[in-house]
Amino acid sequence: MGEHKTSMKAPKILILGGGYGGLRAAITLQERLKAQAEITLISKHDYHYQTTLLHKVAIGTLSARKARIYFRKILDLDKVRFIKDKILSFDPENKRVFGNGGAYEYDYLIIALGFKPDDFGIKGVAEHAHKLSSLNAALKLDKLIEYRFKEYCHTKNDDDLSVIVCGTGFTGIEFAAELGSRLDELCLIGGIPREVPKVTCIGRSERILPMFSKKASALAKKKLEAFGVDVICDGEVIECKENGVVIKQNGEERHIKGNTILWSAGVKGNDSLEKSSFETTKGRIKVDEYLRCPQYKNIYVVGDCALYASRDAIHAPTAQLAAQMGDYVGKSLIKILNGTTQKKPFKFQHRGTVCSIGHTDGVGIIYKKSIGGEFAAFLKNFIENKWLYGIGGAKLVFKNGQFRYRTSN
Ligand SMILES: Cc1cc2nc3c(=O)[nH]c(=O)nc-3n(C[C@H](O)[C@H](O)[C@H](O)COP(=O)(O)OP(=O)(O)OC[C@H]3O[C@@H](n4cnc5c(N)ncnc54)[C@H](O)[C@@H]3O)c2cc1C
Repeated sequence: MGEHKTSMKAPKILILGGGYGGLRAAITLQERLKAQAEITLISKHDYHYQTTLLHKVAIGTLSARKARIYFRKILDLDKVRFIKDKILSFDPENKRVFGNGGAYEYDYLIIALGFKPDDFGIKGVAEHAHKLSSLNAALKLDKLIEYRFKEYCHTKNDDDLSVIVCGTGFTGIEFAAELGSRLDELCLIGGIPREVPKVTCIGRSERILPMFSKKASALAKKKLEAFGVDVICDGEVIECKENGVVIKQNGEERHIKGNTILWSAGVKGNDSLEKSSFETTKGRIKVDEYLRCPQYKNIYVVGDCALYASRDAIHAPTAQLAAQMGDYVGKSLIKILNGTTQKKPFKFQHRGTVCSIGHTDGVGIIYKKSIGGEFAAFLKNFIENKWLYGIGGAKLVFKNGQFRYRTSN
């Protein structure tokens, strides 16, 4: 990897996006960089949000306050400048990016703009389905669900209490389980018979959570069903409508009624990248072994908008992967700025994955061992808290952390 040529001016490092990848890169740089550099983080909100908690915010079991961390409160502003802006386009030839606030120049660029839901061009998804793509989107969904439950005494419209979740991967299952676990309370508040609300979770694959073992996925399905969630596998959503979805299952079409639809069937990279001159596959840039953009060696791409393959296996986009990538790129830049080279290619350490099933249950794999039940829920909280510790120390864990006997609603 190239070395930094000494110049009179401090080199400019520009980080785009303050999610798991971008924020981790900024923190690594601020903690370890001794050489002089101008570091700027640009993100479209003035806070980092824990995407992995959005399903809880969307159901109202976690207040948005707890999933939101203001950048200026945790960054060392003498070392990292924060700018709130939305990035719109790129000019890599002239080392510039453009946002609503104008042009930003860089010597080194870290692109960490995250994901966008992928609707695969399916009719009606854009218009009728909600997506868990930001804190604001999660809050909107929370308000809608609660409103519909509270107004049921006037509307008496059963479809208002029918929630359809498209996608049986991580996001869909965590959301459906969180909602399932809150149905008793919502029914009690609204004086609604428990048999009226319906939650249906639809997936194209033959089983839910296909990244887990068959046993773990069967266990997760059983737990969901215990909450009263209907799980439909091998069902392809072919259209979303205002009042439900049309699915194709075993060659036959079916209409599932419901006024609240969540689309969580897939993600792609950021749309600003799709429109750029970078070579992308579904908005994601295929990076080299040092996480650089193959066309421009001063541009790094991390997190969900990077397509990273090791030994030809493409890794699924996760917060764990994004954070490791951000840390690696931060360290690589430190080496370059100190006049040495990064010789070690990036290597993803897959420590495991946990899917929560409500606040006190879950399934997962940790260091290749299957886990479940309350222990899985404990580890899920531990993972969230470890992230907080890494970016803001013990103080942030006590303030925003996840603990067994406190749901912070
Ligand atoms: C409900 C849900 C649950 C999940 N659970 C897990 C889990 O348990 N474990 C796990 O490992 N992964 C989980 N994931 C996936 C994980 O959240 C993502 O892989 C991770 O957030 C990717 O990190 P990132 O830094 O690439 O992007 P993000 O965390 O999405 O960050 C992108 C950042 O860029 C900003 N941004 C976007 N566009 C622009 C723009 N144009 N201009 C400026 N700023 C912009 C955003 O505001 C955001 O701050 C979950 C995802 C969801 C939705």
